[in-house]
Amino acid sequence: MPEDDFSTDISFPGQPRSEFVRLTSKGEKIKFRIAKPPFYLGKHWIAPKEQVPCLKVNKNLECEWCMKFEQNIENPHTKNKSYKPNVEFYYSIINRSTKKAEIFQTGISVHTVIKETAKAGVNIYNSDWQVTRNEGDNPANYYGTIRLDAVSLTAEEKEELKSAKELDFTKIFKDEGQSSSIEEPALNEEEDATEEPEKEEKEKENIESDKIPF
Ligand SMILES: [Zn+2]
Repeated sequence: MPEDDFSTDISFPGQPRSEFVRLTSKGEKIKFRIAKPPFYLGKHWIAPKEQVPCLKVNKNLECEWCMKFEQNIENPHTKNKSYKPNVEFYYSIINRSTKKAEIFQTGISVHTVIKETAKAGVNIYNSDWQVTRNEGDNPANYYGTIRLDAVSLTAEEKEELKSAKELDFTKIFKDEGQSSSIEEPALNEEEDATEEPEKEEKEKENIESDKIPF
């Protein structure tokens, strides 16, 4: 993975891309607007430098490595000695600093906060978000994820948001991974809902098929 700072101008859609925005050092943070439900991918470490896709997380299929995990078979290749799959989340966002559409790659702890917020009835697409890499020993605090009051999008950002909404993760990740879903409340109570004219059928399906196994 490239070390990406947020000044990098990453453009899509259309072009397959391999660069994602990540928080790579302590104290680094990103402020963003979420464009659409995130995508997630599971992988297992099976050798010191080799990861394989997790078929269970990615496709709801049987996965030999998950079976090893469930049977508590020791994995000599990871620190925690476990075959537990790593799950990575990819959010299509507008980076509020660069004003560009970007893909934020992050972990399940960040996703959990966003998802819980959605469950509480908040339209998470109408808020700004900030994630800070705190590090430290407590996994619950490793990333700080907070919801911010929405700052209106500029005209430029609204344009970027359109591309961010159209982003097709399945093209980037080929056949791996799945879309998550984060329910949107029925009413967009804010002008800044950024006019979502066509409520895509796809997204509705996702709402029903949200089965993250973790
Ligand atoms: Zn697996």
